[in-house]
Amino acid sequence: MSSDCLFCAMGSGVMDVPKLHDDDLVFAIRDINPRAPTHLLVIPKEHIPGALDITEAHGPVLGRMYAVAAALARSEGFADNGFRLAVNCGDDGGQTVYHLHMHVLAGRRLGPEG
Ligand code: AMP
Ligand code: ZN
Repeated sequence: MSSDCLFCAMGSGVMDVPKLHDDDLVFAIRDINPRAPTHLLVIPKEHIPGALDITEAHGPVLGRMYAVAAALARSEGFADNGFRLAVNCGDDGGQTVYHLHMHVLAGRRLGPEG
């Protein structure tokens, strides 16, 4: 856990936030500034700063992130219409929180990436 990290604070429970999912490896929340009718974030509890810091040892947590995103797509009702999973990396990628997270965007026809 990084002491000054927003998503570490949420994951550890230091900051109380409504969670759509919470397990030993990941949790999921609604984005505070949604860019689609449904905009969720799937977040590992481990403080991984970003995609550049992922190693093969992170396989289990990455697998859990995708599995949770798929489960939420079904439980929230947008699995059939489709959705986008995205990870922003660095300044040009639009990353603003340096704790890895997966955006889950759904509820309208999304434009091309970028
Ligand atoms: P990124 O820009 O890819 O790093 O994504 C960070 C996301 O975190 C943005 O979509 C923000 O809207 C979202 N965000 C920032 N603060 C909060 C918060 N307190 N609760 C929920 N989402 C947040
Ligand atoms: Zn963190």
